[in-house]
Amino acid sequence: MIKNDATLALSKTEMKEYGYKVIDAIVEHFETQSNKLPVALATREEMDHTFLEQAPELGADADEVLEFVLQKVMTKSSIVSHPKMYSFVPGPSNYISTMADTLATGFNVFSGGWTASPAAAEIEIVTMNWLLGLFGFPTKKGGGIFTSGGSMANLTAIVTARQVKCGEDFSKAVIYLSDQAHSSNIKAIRIAGFSRKQIRIIPTDSEFKFALNKLKNAIAKDRLKGLQPFCLIATAGTTNTGTVDPLAAMAKICKSEDIWFHIDGAYGAAAVLSEKGKKALKGIEKADSLTVDPHKWFFQPYEIGCLLVRNHKWLKSTFTEKPEYLRDVEGNPSEINFFDHGIELTRRFRALKFYMSIKTFGLKEFRKAISYNIEIAEATESYLRKSPNWEVTSPATLAVINFRYNPIGNQLSEKKLDALNQYISKKMVASNESMLVTTVLNKQVVLRMCLINPRTTFQDIKETLEMCEQFAEEKPLT
Ligand SMILES: *Cc1c(COP(=O)(O)O)cnc(C)c1O
Repeated sequence: MIKNDATLALSKTEMKEYGYKVIDAIVEHFETQSNKLPVALATREEMDHTFLEQAPELGADADEVLEFVLQKVMTKSSIVSHPKMYSFVPGPSNYISTMADTLATGFNVFSGGWTASPAAAEIEIVTMNWLLGLFGFPTKKGGGIFTSGGSMANLTAIVTARQVKCGEDFSKAVIYLSDQAHSSNIKAIRIAGFSRKQIRIIPTDSEFKFALNKLKNAIAKDRLKGLQPFCLIATAGTTNTGTVDPLAAMAKICKSEDIWFHIDGAYGAAAVLSEKGKKALKGIEKADSLTVDPHKWFFQPYEIGCLLVRNHKWLKSTFTEKPEYLRDVEGNPSEINFFDHGIELTRRFRALKFYMSIKTFGLKEFRKAISYNIEIAEATESYLRKSPNWEVTSPATLAVINFRYNPIGNQLSEKKLDALNQYISKKMVASNESMLVTTVLNKQVVLRMCLINPRTTFQDIKETLEMCEQFAEEKPLT
């Protein structure tokens, strides 16, 4: 008789007590996060000192391990859902989706194939249809897939574009993107097997938009050289400035040149839910493929990205392989196996949190939150413009604004202004009071706020700006 007592199981009472402690900790975090300091900094040395050990041969008390994690791990992670988290792209999240993720993990739903979970596949189909509809994509023919994030969605897009436009031989293929495109695109292009010689980085104009004339020149020159322009990547909401490229004009170029049109909307696409955003995103419906990143401005917890395509067959013809051990699960073509539509076989049930949060709050609630974000960024812009101390570098666009400290009448050189703004950011981050870091625009060091947290108030922003002014005044200006 083979007997096993290593089942990795807890008793029902133990599971409940442990689970309630976890939920209590999460709820406490949701309740108190705004009053905590958003920035958590630590050195490798400090972290090694806390955590470094050999994998223990013998286990410890579950509560003690949990307590250790709550005390030492969670407190040393910056709070990306904090109202004063302005940098990178914040992750405002929401509680319903948090619980949905817990359910998906708790039931360990396999979201790869229809046979393993028809309901998970159906919910991915349904939520994908919602997204196709929101972006004006064909809902019958169109398709898509949830990924871990925007980077994976962009990779899925590039591989699909390569397959559909070039087939097996892509040695002459050329791909175009702007100097404001997100770095994940270059990463994806490199992973997909293209050399740097096949990538054209086109400059942007004074408003950080794709320079169309330069793009047309580049395409024409490449054709003269006997190369194959095959893919153009536009950005709908650049990470730096929120800028939307001239989508409709770019779509036209793609159509006449037979080029795949990918739009990276990882940051900005969700703005389609607001009136202003919808206007700014005009032309987004013309893409062949579109990256959306629900763990950004759709307020989902990590990880959920999404790729939409005009024709679902493109995904299937790119990613289907037929190994013997999967032959019994092929099924009816309408019953989608998402492992045939993307890179991953085993996939967590990402669609559930998107589904449950939209069912619970309704699209209206999302529309209100996103409209509020856009408006508060615009209010910040007018506040800065009216101040003698601040200069707006790029106006509020899809809730992103860039500015710098540059008080009127000062005699500082550009170099000194750069140093001053860098100093303000450094002092701010070191104070842990708010996450406000710099970026570089027009060769100037500027401060950047990405205001997609619906719990960020104008008062929060004012407090942060006043703190910046204090730091600046303390610094000797020599
Ligand atoms: C954030 C972002 C990405 C990458 O998405 P991840 O979810 O971080 O992988 C790609 N493109 C743009 C424009 C982004 O803002």
